[in-house]
Amino acid sequence: MVHTSAQAVLQQLEEAGYSAYLVGGCVRDLLLGKQPDDYDMTTSARPEEVLALFAPHAIPTGLQHGTVTVRRGGESFEITTFRADGTYSDGRHPDAVTFSRRLEDDLQRRDFTVNAMAMDRRGQLTDLYGGQEDLRRGVIRCVGNAETRFAEDALRIMRGLRFAAVLGFSIEEQTAQAMIACRYRLEQIAAERLQVEMTKLLCGRDAGEILLRFPQVIGVFMPEILPCVGFTQHSRWHCYDVWEHICRSVDAAPVQPLLRWTMLLHDIAKPVCFTQDEAGAGHFYGHPQRGVEMAQEIMHRLRFDKRSQQRIETLIAWHDREIPRTERGVRRALHALGEEALRQLIEVKRADNRAQHPDCREFMQQQIDRAEEIMERLLEKESCFRVAQLAVNGRDLLALGLQGAQIGAALEAALEQVLEGALPNEKESLLAWISEHKKP
Ligand code: ATP
Ligand code: MG
Repeated sequence: MVHTSAQAVLQQLEEAGYSAYLVGGCVRDLLLGKQPDDYDMTTSARPEEVLALFAPHAIPTGLQHGTVTVRRGGESFEITTFRADGTYSDGRHPDAVTFSRRLEDDLQRRDFTVNAMAMDRRGQLTDLYGGQEDLRRGVIRCVGNAETRFAEDALRIMRGLRFAAVLGFSIEEQTAQAMIACRYRLEQIAAERLQVEMTKLLCGRDAGEILLRFPQVIGVFMPEILPCVGFTQHSRWHCYDVWEHICRSVDAAPVQPLLRWTMLLHDIAKPVCFTQDEAGAGHFYGHPQRGVEMAQEIMHRLRFDKRSQQRIETLIAWHDREIPRTERGVRRALHALGEEALRQLIEVKRADNRAQHPDCREFMQQQIDRAEEIMERLLEKESCFRVAQLAVNGRDLLALGLQGAQIGAALEAALEQVLEGALPNEKESLLAWISEHKKP
């Protein structure tokens, strides 16, 4: 079951007198019957020895960590010398990397039992920590003492939550307790790393369950979520508290990072916007707008790219508006958002609604389907939702005798007519209308 080019690389190392194995995530994935994304290898050979053996197909990509990348059969393999990591003082990186001649040292430094197995080129497994058994039972468990391992490197806390969400595994009790006990160490972890792990977690099949169970861990770098936990909504639309609603909405959204993040953030301002009327019903006036501001801060802190950030803000701002159910309404939404964002908004509305009270699902889902049908129909027969898509342009209007600012204004007015459905997007009718209404 070991990949052929990988086998050849392992064999070459063995024939040169070294031991060599596949290790870590690829072994885990092979045992799960999944295609690994990449093949990491570990060997007794020192980095210089690996470089010499595979020259000129070897590149020293991370010599300080002992990593050499070897190209073979159109693929890249990362080969790292057996390491023993020793002590950690900064909560993230070992103080010194020590190379070892023993596989056991290398497996011992790895984070979880399911990630701490090695496989030789014949498929023979070295499993010193019960990784196979944990894979079979679906358990994430630290190698060694969980608190010690999280104190060495707190990123492992987020990696553990991420693996549990992605693989649909449970977290062994002591590992779970240590995640909570050590959570404040996440303050030392770079924001970019937290964002990457959080995105993978959110895209996992059990994202909602993990979020629901570990809000206090996520809350270390996103304290804004904490007031949502257990916050009763007092609303006939909702049978879950704000946090559970958020978690369920994440699961209900398509598996795309942008949509999953939008769901995580969409109702974050509900607690600060909460009011209750005389009848006792809860309201959250202004929570989309306030939510945009809070989400902006969170995404800035976690170093989101500008484009994703802006789109997520737009979707949060629009998530609670009524979905348009007329051609005119959908044209206006296409004008304001563009096709891509309107499609995303439709998914956000669906996910939001699926996480609401079951009694108000069917009707809303039908309304959303209806909006989508109208959008598809419009996009098929029409394609004018912006000035640039009008069948007339500035030059046509110059020819009509309009000048300067009149031109822009006339185009805007003509687009308005098209969006209203009052005029077809055809040159002749547009010019006729402009001549009649907009000529000086
Ligand atoms: P994926 O590539 O699917 O994210 P992976 O398990 O391959 O999962 P990598 O980040 O590629 O994760 O790391 C490869 C291996 O290195 C892991 O399987 C694990 O054995 C080890 N490892 C990675 N990060 C750490 C860490 N912070 N602490 C201890 N071991 C780690
Ligand atoms: Mg990997």
